[in-house]
Amino acid sequence: MGKHEFWFVVGSQFLYGPEVLETVEARAKEMAEKLSAVLPHPLVFKTIGVTCQGIEDVIREANYSNDCAGIVTWCHTFSPSKMWINGLTKLQKPWCHLATQYNREIPNEEIDMDFMNLNQAAHGDREHGFIGARLRMPRKVIAGYWEDAKVQKRLADWMKAAVGVDVSRHLKVMRFGDNMREVAVTEGDKVEVQAKLGWQVNTWAVGDLVKEMNAVSEAEVDELMAIYEANYDIATDNIATIRYQAREEIAMKKMLDAEGCKAFSNTFQDLYGMEQLPGLASQHLMAQGYGYGGEGDWKVSAMTAIMKAMGEGGNGASAFMEDYTYHLVEGQEYSLGAHMLEVCPSVAAGKPRIETHHLGIGMNEKDPARLVFEGKEGDAIVASLIDVGGRLRLIVQDIHCVKPIMPMPNLPVARVMWQAMPDLTTGVECWITAGGAHHTVLSYDVTAEMMKDWARMMDIEFVHITKDSTPDGIEKELFLNDLAWNLKR
Ligand code: MN
Repeated sequence: MGKHEFWFVVGSQFLYGPEVLETVEARAKEMAEKLSAVLPHPLVFKTIGVTCQGIEDVIREANYSNDCAGIVTWCHTFSPSKMWINGLTKLQKPWCHLATQYNREIPNEEIDMDFMNLNQAAHGDREHGFIGARLRMPRKVIAGYWEDAKVQKRLADWMKAAVGVDVSRHLKVMRFGDNMREVAVTEGDKVEVQAKLGWQVNTWAVGDLVKEMNAVSEAEVDELMAIYEANYDIATDNIATIRYQAREEIAMKKMLDAEGCKAFSNTFQDLYGMEQLPGLASQHLMAQGYGYGGEGDWKVSAMTAIMKAMGEGGNGASAFMEDYTYHLVEGQEYSLGAHMLEVCPSVAAGKPRIETHHLGIGMNEKDPARLVFEGKEGDAIVASLIDVGGRLRLIVQDIHCVKPIMPMPNLPVARVMWQAMPDLTTGVECWITAGGAHHTVLSYDVTAEMMKDWARMMDIEFVHITKDSTPDGIEKELFLNDLAWNLKR
């Protein structure tokens, strides 16, 4: 993977003479430099687009560059859009149209016809918008003054979504064993996801993992135990069990890294030769940015890896999650999310504890060690990618996480409690109508707008359950989506 930079391509034309073009270029460079200082990834000034060939050349270069994660365009002056057609029709990278202008204010005394000719983004960006619409190209449109914090935040978020596109297009998923028997929603078309999203989803034998585990040295385990001790409170005397998880983590990480995989799945139904389902092992791998899905759910595993990469600092607070049970008391309606072991500590409110408990599900000979904690408070989303046959649908719901309203001292796993939008039961009706899975990615720092941008760039269906959603509205939207996507195919 490249270093994730974005290219700034600014539209103009020869009509106004060389001096105007020099000014446009100087200003474009200044804007790229100032924006790069505040954005999560560099915005690199590339060229002033003034000819069909020049624009096509820079777009070809963008397509083939490993570093370029997308292009940002803006028309400082008028830039006739037929010049952009041969380039834009070849564009394979994410595109953001930043409709801005160099100056914030109309200068009352200074303004004359020269000023108007130089600063005519208001109509240049409309011509540019037309060709995007005419070519039916997926693009993000952000309008506003480029030095405003709100505009910069939206551009930053779009950049992160575009990084999610790059991560997706290079993602490899390692499956240890198949999906859990008889489960429908964790299935999916691996050819379709590779064609559409770029994911390489392949299987490795659990026996190969066991072989790798047996080759892990005691010294390697000691080293990882020191990291566990530094980051977590050890709340068990069963150290051998923790060491076994360390062995599992080291072996899985070696196999993942050897294949360049950033996501993995496993299932409790296939632990042949293993004493414990990886719990702490999977949790600590997730904390390092690897995606994970339980019960062989490779789609949620891949989405976890992508959303982690989209989040703050390139490894945000995003976690594999499962809707477990509800609190249906009127006025206190909450979802309780958890998993049988594997919740990522990136969403923990405090220092996680390592505990060992019996796990009845699966073929565990020993009590697996796992991290136990409460999720933090804050606005978040849950996301589920499903295969609806012939296409993929991404469902995102807005939620608000709370400190769990009760301590639940006998619950042996990490837990997150939240209020779903628009409310618990209406939200459940919307979610079930849309076919959303019980497995999700819960994220505190990836927004619904970022996921919508990502879905648009990946060309997949997007359904958003918000504070304003109703089951009737969702049903109608899904019906129209079905018609539209079937026509599109
Ligand atoms: Mn599950």
